[in-house]
Amino acid sequence: MVMESINPATGEVLEVFEELTDQQLETALEASREGFSAWSATTFSQRRKVLQAAAALLRQNTGEYAELISREMGKPVKEARGEVEKCAWACDYYAEQGERFLASEPIDTDASRSYVRYAPLGPVLAVMPWNFPFWQVFRAAAPTLMAGNAMLLKHASNVPACAAAIEGILAEAGLPRGTFQNLAIGSGRVEAVINDPRVRAVTLTGSEAAGRKVAATAGAAIKKTVLELGGSDPFLVLEDADLDEAARVAATARTINSGQSCIAAKRFIVADRVADDFLERFRAHLEELRLGNPAEPETHIGPQARHDLRDTLHRQVRDSVKAGADLLMGGEMPPGKGYYYPVTLLDGVTEGMPVADEETFGPVAPVFRVPDDEAAVALANRSRYGLGGAVWSADRERAEAVGQRLEVGCVFVNGMVKSDPRLPFGGIKASGYGRELGQQGIREFTNVQSVWIG
Ligand code: NDP
Repeated sequence: MVMESINPATGEVLEVFEELTDQQLETALEASREGFSAWSATTFSQRRKVLQAAAALLRQNTGEYAELISREMGKPVKEARGEVEKCAWACDYYAEQGERFLASEPIDTDASRSYVRYAPLGPVLAVMPWNFPFWQVFRAAAPTLMAGNAMLLKHASNVPACAAAIEGILAEAGLPRGTFQNLAIGSGRVEAVINDPRVRAVTLTGSEAAGRKVAATAGAAIKKTVLELGGSDPFLVLEDADLDEAARVAATARTINSGQSCIAAKRFIVADRVADDFLERFRAHLEELRLGNPAEPETHIGPQARHDLRDTLHRQVRDSVKAGADLLMGGEMPPGKGYYYPVTLLDGVTEGMPVADEETFGPVAPVFRVPDDEAAVALANRSRYGLGGAVWSADRERAEAVGQRLEVGCVFVNGMVKSDPRLPFGGIKASGYGRELGQQGIREFTNVQSVWIG
């Protein structure tokens, strides 16, 4: 079996990668056990140096990695640069904070001394997606490695070159052999890796379907999982919101990464009284965005990462229009090579339409009109997902109170939902469970060990 690296801007095959043989996979699993044994014995200051070296390499070669990301999954190169820089930030952040986050905590009991320590767990399997092919991996790897674990990466099959590059960076940064390995395998072989006794836990970022499958396998094997499964984030515009600012940020929040982000705003829930004014501004901002070659610095929106994903998106738009949504912009598949999809704006969207009920992973913005805050919150919460949500109002306290009623893992007031190494990140409901980033993130893959000394 082979994996193809395909340029989504042209459909051209850039490179072909061989999948690991069963023997190579076995060798990697054994190396992971040995890597864990060496790495878990290091001090925090040794780990800190390796993560800082990885951050330095990412910063030195930002342009090269950004071009690789852009070529392989179609992200505008300007955004890819930001992605690489953010990976360096996460490495530095955990290098600096990891020791403090994992410091043992004394607890008063009947013992002469008792405490809780956060010990490494073992090799962790990371099943990762293509949409932020560097960031998703570093977001998982920086804390997991800082905690003393080893990691096995099963990256998405359409980004094999990014996967190989990440392995190279972490090896060059000085990780012991086997501590971080890229497993070039298809998803059909993940079950066997999860069941391998040398693998102790699994983190997955991806679709709900993949999350269910992986979590079921890990559950049967009694292995911990963290799942980050995307969402359908509501973006609430209350009637007293600064409409200019809300519309400007809404356009970015929907179209970042050509719309392929788990925390993109995916449902625009707007107070009736201001809906026309908001829509006019939102549309004007969306019309300014330039769709085109991701290698060009002026491009805002590149192609979708795979043709099948673009087909799904178009089906969601078409079926929603058939069901009564008003198509205000876009919605037509452009001719020619490359998996491009235009920025699409839909008004009059109601529940039951695919763009309302399903995750839309592309530059498609559905607008819902609601009479008041109550209706906005109720609609926002009638989603199977619960990742993030944004609320816009001139009255911060009111927006905060509305935000706290959202059934989501991350609430942003007068801003767009974004990940930040300092804040835990993750969702509830079908968006998954567990947290990445922050202190909570680094503790997910540790053995919380109670020690009692008589
Ligand atoms: P997938 O969930 O299929 O892919 C994500 C990762 O999971 C890949 O490494 C994939 O491997 C792996 N995977 C898929 N199925 C299984 C399985 N049964 N067992 C083990 N591993 C598996 O996402 P897609 O790329 O197909 O995208 C589909 C949709 O998922 C998107 O349109 C979007 O809605 C959502 N998504 C959400 C993301 C997020 O950030 N939360 C990221 C990506 C997608 P392989 O590539 O080899 O199949």
